[in-house]
Amino acid sequence: SIMPATLSAISRGAKQGILFKGGVFAEQLANIETIVFDKTGTLTNGKPIVTDFIFTKEDPIVYATIEAIERQSNHPLAKAIVKATQEKHSCNLPNVNSVQDFSGKGIQAVVEEESWKIGNAKLLGEQAIQSFENGVVSRLAKEGKTVVAVSRNNEIIGLFALQDTIRSQAVDAIQTLKKHGIRTVMLTGDQPETAKAIAQQAGIEEYVASCLPDDKVNYIKTYQHERLAMVGDGINDAPALATAHVGIAMGEGSDVALETADVVLMKNDLTKIAHAIDLSQKMNQIIK
Ligand code: ADP
Ligand code: MG
Repeated sequence: SIMPATLSAISRGAKQGILFKGGVFAEQLANIETIVFDKTGTLTNGKPIVTDFIFTKEDPIVYATIEAIERQSNHPLAKAIVKATQEKHSCNLPNVNSVQDFSGKGIQAVVEEESWKIGNAKLLGEQAIQSFENGVVSRLAKEGKTVVAVSRNNEIIGLFALQDTIRSQAVDAIQTLKKHGIRTVMLTGDQPETAKAIAQQAGIEEYVASCLPDDKVNYIKTYQHERLAMVGDGINDAPALATAHVGIAMGEGSDVALETADVVLMKNDLTKIAHAIDLSQKMNQIIK
């Protein structure tokens, strides 16, 4: 049977936009020592826009091909790339075959018997990307932009930089959690320089970049003795949300993240995490 104090915490949470999926989670949040945040869609708004096109030549067919391939993906970066490339050409879209979408890496396909890859260093190779247009990748990444490269038959022909904005409540939320003595960490599939810039903007000192979904899970397993909560939004955060003591999903996150999480932040408001912890601590005081 559920205690009145627990019931009251759950209902007060609901009024504030914090959905606890059960009394245990409302109870466990009080003792959380570390909170791990996903980057894209969690600390950031998850609505990137293409800010830079760096291509060896302006070729409308190249843009049409990229658009056609990225239409096969529902990654937020793919949506932004579709939007930007469709304005660059008026060609018919080519047929796309053998599409493979690699979580945390990018997308690969065959178009007119040529092999195309769009993604990061894990998909196209670190060396190849770094040697393209001498130093440009680092410069863009240091601005906090995500760099996505394009290769055609294994030759890099260009890249996009995409800018996402940090959520307006992120800095406040992190600061409050730190004042509570909670350790904060950011995990991301993005590259190290981009990760560093975004972590800095959010006020988070610890981050791990180039994380595949499994790497996120392994990180959480490594620190499990610390009573850890994970905050995420994406399909690929679901395994990490399930592994953490308390999984917290952003309200506008993917269905899978919402289903897997123990707590949902209804309005994507990160400052509600500290409120939820307060509710949980007050509730535990009454129970004990
Ligand atoms: P995060 O952990 O920041 O939410 P993801 O794990 O979803 O990021 O993606 C990590 C990286 O994989 C992206 O930064 C991008 O380089 C690459 N990527 C994934 N999907 C795509 C795609 N459809 N097109 C281009 N790049 C992609
Ligand atoms: Mg995300």
